[in-house]
Amino acid sequence: MVGHGGHPVYGAQDTTIFSVMNALAARHGAINLGQGFPDEDGPAAIRAAAARALLDGPNQYAPLTGMAVLRKAVAAHAKRFYDLDLDAGCEILVTAGGTEALAASLTGLIAPGDEAVIVEPAYDSYRPVLEAAGAQVKAVRLEAPSFKLEEAALAAAFSPRTKLVVVNSPLNPVGRVFGFAELEMLAGFIKRNDAFAVCDEVYEHLVFDGAAHIPLMTLPGMFERCLRIGSAGKIFSLTGWKIGWVAGPAPLIAAVTKVHQFLTFTVSPALQIGIAHGLEHEMDFTLSLTHTLQKKRDRLAGIMAPLGFEALPCEGTCFLTARTGDLTNEPDRAFCERLAREARVALIPLSPFYGTDGPTDLVRFAFCKNPENLGDAITRLENYFLPAAAKRIMGK
Ligand code: PMP
Ligand code: GLN
Repeated sequence: MVGHGGHPVYGAQDTTIFSVMNALAARHGAINLGQGFPDEDGPAAIRAAAARALLDGPNQYAPLTGMAVLRKAVAAHAKRFYDLDLDAGCEILVTAGGTEALAASLTGLIAPGDEAVIVEPAYDSYRPVLEAAGAQVKAVRLEAPSFKLEEAALAAAFSPRTKLVVVNSPLNPVGRVFGFAELEMLAGFIKRNDAFAVCDEVYEHLVFDGAAHIPLMTLPGMFERCLRIGSAGKIFSLTGWKIGWVAGPAPLIAAVTKVHQFLTFTVSPALQIGIAHGLEHEMDFTLSLTHTLQKKRDRLAGIMAPLGFEALPCEGTCFLTARTGDLTNEPDRAFCERLAREARVALIPLSPFYGTDGPTDLVRFAFCKNPENLGDAITRLENYFLPAAAKRIMGK
């Protein structure tokens, strides 16, 4: 039934938690450790290249699949980091960020009635987009604190009717980076059920402690079954630019392009030129960003226990997840709303990353913030929680 909300799926959705928490942060003057945007912009040389292109052109529609200079740069990036050989002519599609890449990929592959597997906690756009395309969604639930892919859970979710699985590694919000053995097991399920994988790899470079990100499409026999999604916003701390891409075998890219042509058709040529410059010349920025972020992760993780949170392991992304433990009996969302109002620090509750009956004691801290904001947020959290923590200890 289409009610007053309009679309039968999207109309029933809450406003995305990122916008909700941003609005609360603005209303209460909270420091925003919620939405995952860095508050330091990426390389000036990338912005200068885009600015020059804005002034000098081209300023008319870019080609449907993206500007050749960017498609070539995406192919070269995949060769440099993963030894992938992509044909820039037919195996890469430029999109309006990872968000459009996901929507076009999922809509392009799903036919009504197909089954689709997602891995929870799952980024908030996957389920609504799949359901709007007519998919039956099966969720594989990862369990805290290890959040490992388990064979029994995969076996319960996959069936011969599975059309695709969405795989997000490094995983937002809990920072898992799936290892080779987990990916190999997953690849087995995909092959046995003749399915595809849509691989959301927007945090591909944000992997800590010397670990490596492994694209699922690099495993034997998997290239033909995988679409790999990237986001320049994440790679270069330019989230507002919304330049992303999908890479994969030509027949799958053709199917995704059919959807892309009616979603956005193309995206800004100047920004594409800027990002092409970045992929060719500015990857050192990204590699050093990872080191800085690892230190920020450690700084934030270090204050969790004294405050009463239980920090969970974080192998990648720019997010630290913690259990609220003895701090509250409130559900995660109410707790985050109170913190934004009273402690004036905004976080993201994890329940929007689950279907029904997910855990309600997990919250996410974004640590891609400048040292001053991170320090101020820590001070505010200490002022808010430490007196109560001291009382708890005295009472024991
Ligand atoms: N996937 C994940 C896991 C994300 O966290 C995000 C958020 N940026 C996106 C996709 C969307 O990427 P973009 O901002 O490039 O649209
Ligand atoms: N990916 C960002 C995050 O997880 C949010 C992007 C959005 O607001 N849709 O924080």
